[in-house]
Order: sequence, then C-alpha cells, then structure tokens
Amino acid sequence: MAALVIGVAAPRYLRPLLSPKLNPSLALSAWTISLILFVLTLAAAPIALITRPGQYIPRLNSLVLTCAESLHNDELPWTSFAELTLVSATIALALRIGFVGSVLVSRHRQQTAQHLAMLKMLCNRQSSEEVPQTLWLESPHPAAYSITAGRGVVVATEGLSALTPQQQRAVLAHEHAHLRGKHHHLVLFAEILGAALPFVPLCRQAPAWFRVLTELAADHCAAREFGPDAVRSALVRAADWDGGSRNDPLSKEFRPSTALSDRIHWLDVMPDRGPVSSAASYPVGAMLSALPGLLVVATGFCSFALYCLTRLR
Ligand SMILES: [Zn+2]
Repeated sequence: MAALVIGVAAPRYLRPLLSPKLNPSLALSAWTISLILFVLTLAAAPIALITRPGQYIPRLNSLVLTCAESLHNDELPWTSFAELTLVSATIALALRIGFVGSVLVSRHRQQTAQHLAMLKMLCNRQSSEEVPQTLWLESPHPAAYSITAGRGVVVATEGLSALTPQQQRAVLAHEHAHLRGKHHHLVLFAEILGAALPFVPLCRQAPAWFRVLTELAADHCAAREFGPDAVRSALVRAADWDGGSRNDPLSKEFRPSTALSDRIHWLDVMPDRGPVSSAASYPVGAMLSALPGLLVVATGFCSFALYCLTRLR
C-alpha cells in the first residue's frame, strides 16, 4: 500500500520542492529517496509475508494470532490467494528491475569505456595528476561535460579559454558537482526504474526529473562557489557558440539546451542563502519523502489494531 502511494502520488507531492527559492539538491534528494523507498516498500511486503517477522516477537505474535483466529473461516482462502498474488507480482517486478538494471548498467559501462578510449586518442592534453582528471579537446567551441569512468573525468574544450577565468572555473565547478554528487549514477538509477516499470508514475517521470534537477543542482553548486553571474554568463557564451553549431557533438553538456532559459531564471532568483543547505538536503529530503509512506504504514497499523479490537471485543 505504501509502495502504491509513493509510486502514484510522489510526483505530485514532490512538485512543490521544485522552486527557485529552494536548493535544487533538496528536490533531487527527495526524488532519490522516494525511488529508494518505493523499491524497499515494494520488496517489504513479500519479504514480510515469507519471513513473518512478527513470529519472533512473542507478544505481538500472540496478538496477531488471536486476531487472525477471530477471522471467519471463509475469509482465509481469499487471504491466502491475495498473499500469493502479491508475492508473485512483487517477485516478478523485482526480477524485471534486476534484468533491466543489469542490461542498462552493462551497456552504460561498455559505452563509457569506448567513449573514454576515443577521447584519450583525440585529446591534445590531459591533467592526470588532478582528481577528477581533465581531458582537453581541440575545438574552438566552449564546452565541457563529465563522465563517470574511474574517479570521474571532465572533458573540456580549448574553446573555454574564450571565457573569463571566473567563467571557466564556474564551468568546471559545475562538472565537478556532477561527479561529486554522483549525478550520472542517479540518472542511470532513474532510467533503470523508468525502463523497468514505466506504468508507475514515479518511475516513468523520474528520468526527466533527474536530468533537470541534476543540472540545476550542479548550477547551484557552481554559483555558490563562483557566483551566479559567472555561471549565467558562461551559459550565455556557450549558447552564442551553439547558435552556429547545433550539430557539434562536443557541446554536449555545458551548453544551452531547451532548459537554458529555465537554468538562467533559477540563477537570477537564486537566494544568497537558501533555507536548506546542500549538507542538510539529504536528511530534510528523506524526511519529506518518507512522511507519506510512514503515514500509510501508521494508518495501516491503526486500522489493523482497530479491526482487531472490534473483532476481539
Ligand atoms: Zn551539467
């Protein structure tokens, strides 16, 4: 039941967190934790039905048994059938997530390895002593992006030298924020659940949300370090270049996209000090996203207790 509420309702109740007045890391962590909670609650029902953890708590076990004994005999076959269906359905969903996950992860690894090998052949210099490593490509177009190989790799073009030093630092800080925040892994996690369970609204919408939120979160980190002006002007400079070269494969990441105006708007209205800092965003996000699930579980317990009380009276 909690999985159903999170899977269907989470996209709605998480929407207010997408506000320029809030740190985008908060919405990103709330989405991440909602996806994790969804998977955990999905797995919890069959695990609880198979292992029956209540039997290890004698007092609870005797209460549950007494309550169960009070059920009419004709209700029991229906309950067993429902349990069997629930266990089979969730095992099928878990197998599907596992299968799609292994296919997408191995494809991602293979593509990343091939991409990195190609970049190492093409790059004209690399700063191997830095973490993350930066590969520089010969191109007049100011562009940068990051990949998750090893301890993370930033790919940047020599065209970045057309930007001011502050703008260059902001661009690299944006990519470092992606690597530090494990944004590529989060997007892949969302893509796995989106591909495995497209009929669940939370999973279906997650990949698009994660792509937007990771960009906003990386912009936010870079703006905190080097100022919103540096990030905004770097985006605009990259956009000017992109106007004449829309098919350039290098301008893949730090460049204008359909969300450019949104990213600039967020930087325009970004508060000096948000109500939620990056460090606090995970616990606050966890609390906000866990609340509806906990409410469902608490309601379930209360309903069961009330049902037992009326039965045993
Ligand atoms: Zn980015």
